[in-house]
Amino acid sequence: MTFESLGLKKELLKAIEEKGYTNPSPIQEKAIPVILEGKDVLASAQTGTGKTAGFTLPILQIISDTKNPKYRPIRALILTPTRELAAQIYDNVREYSKHLNIKSTVIFGGVKPKSQIATLRSGVDVLVATPGRLLDLHQQKALSLKRVDLFILDEADRMLDMGFVRDINKVIEFLPSKRQNLLFSATFSKEIKKLAQGILNNPVLVEAAPENTTAEMVTQKIYRVPKSRKTAMVTQLISDGNWSQVLIFTRTKHGANRLADKLNKKDISAAAIHGNKSQGARTKALKGFKENTIRVLVATDIAARGLDIPLLPHVINYELPNIPEDYVHRIGRTGRAGASGEAISLVSGEEAEYVRNIEKLLKQKLEIVELEGFDLTPTEQPQQNNTSTKKPRKTVASQQGESQKRNFRAKRKPNDSNNNSGSSNRKKTNSKRKPNRGPRRES
Ligand code: AMP
Repeated sequence: MTFESLGLKKELLKAIEEKGYTNPSPIQEKAIPVILEGKDVLASAQTGTGKTAGFTLPILQIISDTKNPKYRPIRALILTPTRELAAQIYDNVREYSKHLNIKSTVIFGGVKPKSQIATLRSGVDVLVATPGRLLDLHQQKALSLKRVDLFILDEADRMLDMGFVRDINKVIEFLPSKRQNLLFSATFSKEIKKLAQGILNNPVLVEAAPENTTAEMVTQKIYRVPKSRKTAMVTQLISDGNWSQVLIFTRTKHGANRLADKLNKKDISAAAIHGNKSQGARTKALKGFKENTIRVLVATDIAARGLDIPLLPHVINYELPNIPEDYVHRIGRTGRAGASGEAISLVSGEEAEYVRNIEKLLKQKLEIVELEGFDLTPTEQPQQNNTSTKKPRKTVASQQGESQKRNFRAKRKPNDSNNNSGSSNRKKTNSKRKPNRGPRRES
């Protein structure tokens, strides 16, 4: 199939050609015609599937075809959970719209609002936003959502995980009731389906890949290694393999910082990216990584979510996530756009249960391999990269401890997302979590 056959106009085809895309990806093939028909869409798609172009191209076409020549109200609102994702989507919107008379901008927290307000006042057709800053600027009357025709909720599952449900509902109150809605999510939990019911009108279901499957081109390996030897193993893997672009996941922000520091001391240039870093530091780290001036990006799950780093050859799980779906998201960073990739997990004895849960989700056994010549003898002083001793609620617990925790969580009353997920108390709880799962928020 070609982009022409999807009904896209020549200005968009030109931009697509300049991006170097030859054929639409499966999600683009399915979503673009349906969106162009004006239908609501519920799409199951992860980052890496080409979903951004899947919704951006048709909305640009709709806006361009129905533009009022006299004034420029916000016609499309794209809501995303993280600043990085917002910035990436905005880059895409700008690139795809460069041959059209369409203005766009992005707003997110962590930076001063002044220039964002000035740009909004000058008139934009497409707004990409994170919920908190959008609501702040709406309250300040720096923007109006009354003319929004297209509402796009991206990474809806992560939005819920991050406690944005109340913010989303508030935003919807400011939108006109007649509008086209597109909801993209990597996973489809009961909560997502409920959210979708409240937003979408007779949606067409579009799926890019079956839920919770890992990219076929990704080789997955497990190295069994004591906790105290993980940094040494990472260093050896990167040095011996002469890897130039590696994404490493840690479970905690603190662990990410420590690992980045240690790698830098070993002359492996590394930067940490997580929620405690300033927006400037996050952008700089990502830019350095993309431009190959930084070899290693050490990230937590939430910070890494949605990062668009094409053709990433190596992903390392320094620690396994306690939520098996996060493993799928993590290794989705590699083997993208048809390239093969390698996902390596360093697993200590305490993490055995996480392996079992991941294998259950994937319905597949992960291959255990050995690193030749690597000394697995634990060092006397265990390293603290996994900050288990500091933050017991968010650690890789012993199996006994983990089952105790599960029992404890099972006894707790489930949270009411409407009561606890607004921006003011976003940090306090994590709503709608399955009872046997650990905290999802960055620690
Ligand atoms: P996304 O899933 O939207 O984050 O996109 C993942 C990556 O795929 C981005 O780097 C896009 O530029 C790229 N991409 C999107 N559509 C295509 C396409 N049709 N052909 C090749 N690459 C694409």
